[in-house]
Amino acid sequence: MDVVMNNVTMMFQSSTAIKNTSLSFQSGRLTTLLGPSGCGKSTTLFLLAGIYKPSNGSIYFGDRDVTKVEPEDRGVGMVFQNYALYPHMSVLKNIMFPLKMMRVPKAERFERAMDMAKLVKIDHLADRKPKQLSGGQQQRVAIARALVKQPSLLLLDEPLSNLDARLRLEMRDEIRRIQQETKVTTVFVTHDQDEAMSIADHIALMHEGDLQQQGSGESLYRTPANQFVASFLGTPPMNWLNVSQTKNNSIMINETKSALALHHINLSDCSQEMVAGVRPEHVHIHERGALSGKVLQVYFIGRDRFAKIALKDGDISALLYQHQQVDVGDFVHAAFSEEHLHLFDKTTKENCF
Ligand code: ATP
Repeated sequence: MDVVMNNVTMMFQSSTAIKNTSLSFQSGRLTTLLGPSGCGKSTTLFLLAGIYKPSNGSIYFGDRDVTKVEPEDRGVGMVFQNYALYPHMSVLKNIMFPLKMMRVPKAERFERAMDMAKLVKIDHLADRKPKQLSGGQQQRVAIARALVKQPSLLLLDEPLSNLDARLRLEMRDEIRRIQQETKVTTVFVTHDQDEAMSIADHIALMHEGDLQQQGSGESLYRTPANQFVASFLGTPPMNWLNVSQTKNNSIMINETKSALALHHINLSDCSQEMVAGVRPEHVHIHERGALSGKVLQVYFIGRDRFAKIALKDGDISALLYQHQQVDVGDFVHAAFSEEHLHLFDKTTKENCF
């Protein structure tokens, strides 16, 4: 069942949390709603759950208009950030609870809850109370409880944020496994780009209550629709250079006043003044490089070493080769290849593909 939001606006008193946004969540797919704090991710999730009703617009589950349907009649399972387990009930009773509300006969309740406990690998803890469980185990109970009703849509609100780094990786893989086994259409909210990239079939990136771009993580990374998407994804973040369009499909880099002929981008649809983005992994320190400046910092991210270089037009980061000797204070030249440039309109911030 595909889930679609059409031109949804959500207002709280005078503030607009979601601005005329359309989003689609394809059947059987895990979509992450990604974006910085306050961009409207949780509000979107609550709108899908029916906890909030939109000020404007409509929401469809398949052919069914659920815009005004109450949460309990939507067939949605939700996992909250703090799991919200019932502390006085055992693991098994927690999982059975939604079925009790649905008046499912006791024997069937037990059987379905045990199946779910097995799916999330906590059947051996069925008699324990939530406080006798680790964070990861509580998380599994919350997922089992959300799935036991066989919901048509599973909503996960920052489900990994209360776990330590190692457990977060383990539970990320577990959520992916469970989602693939059950094939339930899933919306996973996170502000963490690595989490979104690694777990999702599809990413919807939001900013200030509006969808910026949706697609695979790779497509958003490689072909960002605007400057926000380009700068939100990638660590270290994208480098920026001011450029202007010159003759014969060339640009002039303001920093160096040098011209660069473009072979991979057609500038005919671009405006005169642009901002060029180039990712740090595509910038290298090279003695014939056109950019130059002093090294401010040398730092590691994962296995990679980067140098931050002070240009007149701002700082840029460059990926260092494995044994490249670069020290803070060195004066260096840096270069990149034209094929790695992204160009954005300086006014609209849109990519001029
Ligand atoms: P976070 O990652 O910090 O949880 P978010 O992306 O989930 O943020 P939302 O919680 O959806 O963002 O909030 C979006 C905007 O709507 C924010 O500006 C927030 O202050 C506002 N907002 C959310 N809920 C309410 C509410 N109940 N009343 C008033 N304003 C609200």
